[in-house]
Parts: sequence; C-alpha cells; structure tokens
Amino acid sequence: MPDKTHGFDTLQIHAGARPDPATGARSTPIYQTTAYVFRDADHAAALFNLQEVGFIYSRLTNPTVAVLQERIATLEGGVGAVCCSSGHAAQIMALFPLMAPGRNVVVSTRLYGGTVTQMTQTIRRFGWSAKFVDFDDLDAIRAAVDDDTRAIFCESIANPGGYITDLDAVSQIARDVGLPLIVDNTTATPYLCRPFEHGATLVVHSTTKYLTGNGTVMGGCVVDSGTFDWAASGKFPSLSDPEPAYHGLKFAETFGPMAFTFHGIAIGLRDLGMTMNPQAAHYTLCGIETLSLRMERHVRNAVKVAKWLEADPRVDYVTYAGLESSKYHDRVARICPRGAGGLFTFAVKGGYDACVRLIDAVEIFSHVANLGDTRSLIIHSASTTHRQLEANQLVAAGAAPEVVRVSIGIEDADDLIADLDQALAKATA
Ligand SMILES: *Cc1c(COP(=O)(O)O)cnc(C)c1O
Repeated sequence: MPDKTHGFDTLQIHAGARPDPATGARSTPIYQTTAYVFRDADHAAALFNLQEVGFIYSRLTNPTVAVLQERIATLEGGVGAVCCSSGHAAQIMALFPLMAPGRNVVVSTRLYGGTVTQMTQTIRRFGWSAKFVDFDDLDAIRAAVDDDTRAIFCESIANPGGYITDLDAVSQIARDVGLPLIVDNTTATPYLCRPFEHGATLVVHSTTKYLTGNGTVMGGCVVDSGTFDWAASGKFPSLSDPEPAYHGLKFAETFGPMAFTFHGIAIGLRDLGMTMNPQAAHYTLCGIETLSLRMERHVRNAVKVAKWLEADPRVDYVTYAGLESSKYHDRVARICPRGAGGLFTFAVKGGYDACVRLIDAVEIFSHVANLGDTRSLIIHSASTTHRQLEANQLVAAGAAPEVVRVSIGIEDADDLIADLDQALAKATA
C-alpha cells in the first residue's frame, strides 16, 4: 500500500487503489451502478447524517470516482478532492461554497478562453462577478480586493501564452488579505507544478487534458489543501455556520481540514449535480498512471520545437517559458522545476491570414480545440477558442490575432518540426 512518502511515479499508479475487495481485481473496476444497498436502516441513517463515510447514490460518490479523487489529491499533496463532469464544472464547484450574490473573485487576465467567458458573463447569473487584473502587477491584485472579494483565481501555467504565474507572490497577497487562492493547474499538472507548495488553498483541474492524456473523456476535479481556516475568517458562512441546506450542519467544525471536500460532495454534487461518471474516472485512472512519462516527453518535445521555431525567419516570436528568451524563464526553476509544459504560442509573419493558412496546411498536427493530448494539436485561438473576447482581452490573454497555439504531443519531435516546416512554407509563400 503506497503512502505519501513514495515517489510521484509510484503514487501516480497506486495512490487510492487497492485490489477489489469482492473479486481481487487488480485494476480498479468500473462500478457501473447508481445506488448501493444499505446494510440496514441504521446504516442508511448514519450515511445520510455524514456520521459514516460510504456510498449512497452515484451523484454523490462512486467507488471508481473515489479512487481517482484520492489519486489526484495525493499527487497534488492535498487532503481531499471532488471530481466533477468537466473542468468548467470544477471551477463552479470551487467557487460555489465561497461565493454568494454580490460577492466577487479577483482573477488573472491570463486564462483559458472559456474561463474568461465563464467569469465575465455566466457567473453574473448567480449574482457573482469577477475583477480581471494583470497578475504581474501585485499592487493591482491588492487594490482589486475589496470587502466583497471571496477568492483569488489564476492558472499556474496560463493557457495559451506560456505565462507562468508567480504563485509565491500571489499566495502571499491571499494570506495577507485572508482569502483562499484557487489555482487552475490543468496545463502544468502536479508533475510539473504543485501549487500547494507555493501557498495555494485549492487546485482545480480539467482532467480532460493531461491527466487523462489521450483526448478521450471530459472531467474535472477540485482539490483542497486543507490549510484554510474557514471558521476564523468569518467570510464563508456556508462552511463555518450552520448550513441550512444540510439541516444546520457546521462543516468546518465537523470535518476540520476535510470541510471543503465534504461540502463539495454533500452540497455541491448533491444539488448542482455536476458529477463525474465512473467510465470517465476509469479512463482518467488509466491515463494518470503514465502522467510523469508523458509530461517529460511533452516538455522535451516542446523545448525542441520551440527552439526550432524561434530560429526560423518565418516566425516572429515564440512565447514559451522554457526558452531563455522568455520573460518568464526565471520563474520555471521555482514554480515548475520539471519544465514549462507542452503548450505555447508562436507568431507567424503575415499575421492572421498566414495563421489560418498554416492551420490548413499541417498534416501531423490536428486542428482541434483541445490540449494535453498524446497527439500534437494546433489552433488559431483568436478565431476559435478566444473568439468571444474583445481585442484588448485577446492580447491580455496571450491570444493575439497573429499567433497560433500548439499543444506539443509525444510523437517524434523531428516529425513535428518537419510538419511545421512544410506548413510554414505554404503559409508564408
Ligand atoms: C480545458 C480547460 C478548462 C476547461 O475544462 P473542460 O474540461 O473543457 O471543461 C479550464 N482551464 C484550463 C486551463 C483548460 O485548459
């Protein structure tokens, strides 16, 4: 049985899993069931009172999903995790216990395009709002926090521009103002970056990406560090005060460091229903076993391709923190010591039109709105994923019209370079 002292490569295979008690199955079975038989009426009552941990109904908990939750929590160094149906669901699930009508979250301008839209538009329906700030401007983050702010939110390695957030500096601000820092660690994965070691409170993931790793299933996860004192702050009544949605239960008092995780299951999944299904958990468990091997190759290939592009006269610039020319290169050793990930953008001479021609000319790269696949992927963010954004938001997010984003896969780097070479020839002819 692995424990937390084991290395990452061991934990990514073993954490949370044990041979199936009924059959001895070594690989975690897909528990394809909606409900679980109670031993007797007392057992059922204890489960519903959260006095005993067990399985009731798969909207709340499922044994296959539970293994994945423990696996991801362990890899991140957290105390608990709640899996959900997608990365975007995870973001709502992370904010939900903290927010209320009139409250706001201070967020980085450098975010996944869908997150920008979620935060600028959709969360307003709940009466929440987001204040966008350049996270390199620490004074601006402090200035944006007001009495109604309930969280600070950023990405560790921000999609799409290869920007690395100074998590140490941002978490210091979060501590000073007594707010939780939520870090979207999707593009880094816990292999490259462990936000809790830099002071983050919660981590969210789109498990759709590198954690599954092969572009097969959607999923998300919220991981809790267990370090935030919800009761002391007085700002989070759903966690600290009697919660009317759970017959007056005080989550912080009852569950201590597990309060956020229990709240996520007992209220978040119960009432919002953004549940991960056991099939998805199975695929993600299979994928996560090779996370470190894949991330090493993603990084090695990304460095090689980025260097080649940087030296090519048809390319204006490359934004990859793994390059010495990057403004963020000196954050790599501190924030993501095993590498700056597999995602970056580059600007093609000839601007928007040349980018569109390049996308149409690639053969190995796939033109898709995804990242973190074994396959190399390419997209012109300005005309697709970031299409909803205004011109200034596009530039702030690192998705200017003259850049294409690549998610470098684990194929032979030389084949990737040859593909880009022939496509650049067509794009800039
Ligand atoms: C894909 C992605 C999301 C959204 O995740 P889904 O699983 O597509 O809902 C959020 N953040 C980042 C950084 C992403 O790459």
